Amino acid sequence: MKKVVKFGGSSLASAKQFKKVGDIIRADKSRRYVVPSAPGKRNDKDEKVTDLLYQCYDAASEGRSYKKILEKIKNRYEEIIEGLNVNLSLDHEFANIEENFVNKVGRDYAASRGEYLNGMIMAAYLGYEFIDAAEVIFFDENGNFEADSTNKELSERLEHVERAVIPGFYGSKHDGSIKTFSRGGSDVTGSIVAKAIHADMYENWTDVSGFLVADPRIIKNPEVIETITYKELRELAYMGASVLHEDAIFPVRKEGIPINIRNTNRPEDKGTLIVESTVRKPRYTITGIAGKKGFCSINIEKAMMNSEVGFGRKVLEVFEDFGVSFEHMPSGIDTMTVLVHQSEFEEFEQSVIAGIHRAVNPDFVEMESDLALIAVVGRGMKASRGTAGRIFAALAHARINVKMIDQGSSELNIIIGVKDADFETAIKAIYDIFITTEI
Ligand code: ADP
Ligand code: ASP
Ligand code: MG
Repeated sequence: MKKVVKFGGSSLASAKQFKKVGDIIRADKSRRYVVPSAPGKRNDKDEKVTDLLYQCYDAASEGRSYKKILEKIKNRYEEIIEGLNVNLSLDHEFANIEENFVNKVGRDYAASRGEYLNGMIMAAYLGYEFIDAAEVIFFDENGNFEADSTNKELSERLEHVERAVIPGFYGSKHDGSIKTFSRGGSDVTGSIVAKAIHADMYENWTDVSGFLVADPRIIKNPEVIETITYKELRELAYMGASVLHEDAIFPVRKEGIPINIRNTNRPEDKGTLIVESTVRKPRYTITGIAGKKGFCSINIEKAMMNSEVGFGRKVLEVFEDFGVSFEHMPSGIDTMTVLVHQSEFEEFEQSVIAGIHRAVNPDFVEMESDLALIAVVGRGMKASRGTAGRIFAALAHARINVKMIDQGSSELNIIIGVKDADFETAIKAIYDIFITTEI
């Protein structure tokens, strides 16, 4: 058995957390490859080292004073090294980092030092080999991740290494410069390493006991999802359930490697298993709920729209011309609605409306802003009747006006549009009808 274990920022925020991580790794011999994040928040008011590094670099590269922030960063690592009693000095590393900041080597380099230094500490603490991610994870000159060259290099390198620490979040371009994934990207590194070594399992350790049915910031103590498929997870992640970086499923998915989300603070909990497919029946009709605010709708009305061939295409072309991607497009006989991200659309609003008038000569165009989209996701919905009915009854009961409904043809999800102001209440109502009443 070979496992890759990735630990998130809060799991490595202090010496105390590091010790929990050490215990977890030592408890299972198959936990051979470790992917650490940078130290995260120790409490709600704390700062992530990654954010401090960005601030410090911006100050240093703009010629502003940066020493105080750098000191704060050093102290975070000092506290961990002292608390763990490991024999390691980062003085030389920090001298190097400072020089590179002043010489403006790049923001990605700056951010990556969070995981780099934490990886060095982790390797010293565990007695594992340290492998700099810059030597094994590659990006092309445009900054796109290079899956093939990475997989080749990484698998060759790890073939003869029994146990190693590979810092998350970054790699390098062929010119040697450092490039990071987007925020939360250590999840992606873990997945890439799992693929390269043909892991039996990719364990992703965080601060919650798995993927929860709904965002814990909206629902108090939501139920944990025991098993979820990649497809369901993708729908939820896309709609804002941010436990796992949305790109983290691609490398392992093709290899059939399951991901297990676990809680560093409660290692006895089984967490959530993410799999390609399963015959396990979901516990509830729905698997999860997620949503996002900040959408707006453009409603286009024209008598006999249905018989006008190419109407939809012409409308969407206008959006395309301005580089605005659409999220959903429910339609009626004489109406069509296009939902877009408000932030992407605002700048081009008037030009898009004018373009629609020119393209299809509609009777009316109306817009509505401040809409939220909620995705109710579940492989179990296909087999049970009346799911949509239950959702709408629950929302009506909570006095919420439903602005839009869209059910994907896979019957894996139902998307509901409500006003931003109703977002939290709507999620609570849906959670109650499917989870609280089915328990
Ligand atoms: P890490 O630093 O370990 O990578 P993240 O902050 O990226 O952790 O992800 C874990 C957080 O995701 C949780 O603390 C929680 O606040 C948030 N979250 C949002 N939606 C969900 C959900 N459906 N299930 C679990 N956690 C969620
Ligand atoms: N440290 C990085 C971030 O804060 C990457 C990660 O934690 O996954 O985004
Ligand atoms: Mg994360």
